[in-house]
Amino acid sequence: MIVDILTLFPEMFEGPLGASILGRALEKGLLSVRVTNIRDYAEGRHKVTDDCPYGGGTGMVMKPEPVYAAIDDAVERSAARPWIVLMTPQGEVFSQAIAWDLARRVHLVFVCGHYEGFDERIRLGVDQEISIGDYVLTGGEIPALVVIDAVCRLVPGVLGDDMSAVQDSFAQGLLEGPQYTRPREFRGMEVPEVLLSGDHEKVRLWRRKEALRRTLIRRRDLLDGMALSDEDRRLLAEVRGETTT
Ligand code: SAM
Repeated sequence: MIVDILTLFPEMFEGPLGASILGRALEKGLLSVRVTNIRDYAEGRHKVTDDCPYGGGTGMVMKPEPVYAAIDDAVERSAARPWIVLMTPQGEVFSQAIAWDLARRVHLVFVCGHYEGFDERIRLGVDQEISIGDYVLTGGEIPALVVIDAVCRLVPGVLGDDMSAVQDSFAQGLLEGPQYTRPREFRGMEVPEVLLSGDHEKVRLWRRKEALRRTLIRRRDLLDGMALSDEDRRLLAEVRGETTT
């Protein structure tokens, strides 16, 4: 997958993209990330990328010309038409479903806003507007990183075991249940006996039941939209009998 990031602050991407799983994916060539400074596309000696809002008001607004020029360049460098995403608190709220959808694409371009925002005409040059939640950050760089991290870990080969993304919270509509590792007993807290039993079917059923329990307690809204199997309904009935929520 190719990821282009168009930003006024390229230095914000240096650390996060070099480390951990994404860093290794870049090294292995599973991902290619290009960070482009929108300022390089601004005209004139002062390379101005923002200006006062028409009609007055506080703050500066990102100008359309350098953003469009940077997008055009990213598109021209691409063999296939890339999918262009604008980061904005006014976009559709990011979710695991959107992450899976973006992970199907070969080439993504992320446009990061800054200052008070961007000229409205920039919206017309993109394919999708994404928000990472109902709050306002100073720029689109951290939101773009959030989306890139969530999407890139779904690219085949990026995670050590591709099944782990399928088992994550939200992947099957549920929150993931509790996980344990060694030691078996820690400060009086024991690992559930069933996980030590070696009985794969019992472990599978326990995990499914605990995922249902956790979702029921913490995110009941997720269960409302789910098609539950007969087994899920039976496990959920057991959970309801055991849990006070
Ligand atoms: N005045 C704008 C508004 O009310 O919609 C907010 C501008 S914000 C200070 C500057 C930039 O940060 C935005 O253009 C966007 O790129 C980014 N940004 C801020 N919060 C965001 C969020 N929740 N999701 C995605 N991008 C965000």
